Amino acid sequence: MNCLEKNSAISVLSLVSAIAIVVSKRRALIVAKNALLIIDMSNDFVHSEGSLTAGEPAQAIVKHIIDLADDFLSRGQEVVVCMDAHEENDTHFELWPSHNVKGTWGQELFGDLKAWFEQHKGDENVKYIPKPEYDAFFNTDLESHLKAKNVEKVHLTGVCTDICDFLTAYGAYARGFKTVAHQNAMATFTENHDVFLNHMKSVFKTEIV
Ligand SMILES: [Zn+2]
Repeated sequence: MNCLEKNSAISVLSLVSAIAIVVSKRRALIVAKNALLIIDMSNDFVHSEGSLTAGEPAQAIVKHIIDLADDFLSRGQEVVVCMDAHEENDTHFELWPSHNVKGTWGQELFGDLKAWFEQHKGDENVKYIPKPEYDAFFNTDLESHLKAKNVEKVHLTGVCTDICDFLTAYGAYARGFKTVAHQNAMATFTENHDVFLNHMKSVFKTEIV
């Protein structure tokens, strides 16, 4: 290698290391985000006339969920509405009364949550994800959406604590997300609210707030 070749080899090396430093600095600047999941707050699950309603306990958490959603958006965090979406003849209805059939009143967001979503649905940090099963991660693009947004921690709200909330906590845990359960923003139609919060804490390391 003559002197000229040596010099150009050195300058290529220093260019490569300069690029590496810039890339690693940029990586360090990307801050891990939090996402608020609002699970199954539809008319069928919350409204007094819904077909599978958790009733008053579910109606009582609406304001708290909206406050959390506003807080998340004001801090540049993510909000995802996860919603049961069934076909009319879904096999799921061998277990449960018909509910959340796609496009029906029963599947619409309940009360003030509907207005909140209409107001914010164009926001880059707000997303609506229909789901075919209890676990909002099962056969949906929730995982890829959260990872694309650099989310590390998933906050659970909505209904029901012991069914879709619990199984979505598992879905999050199984995919490497940290989980937080907002106990005053979750409800169920059974007596199992506290039992399942404790169970989330024991088996998924969920933080209960
Ligand atoms: Zn369902």
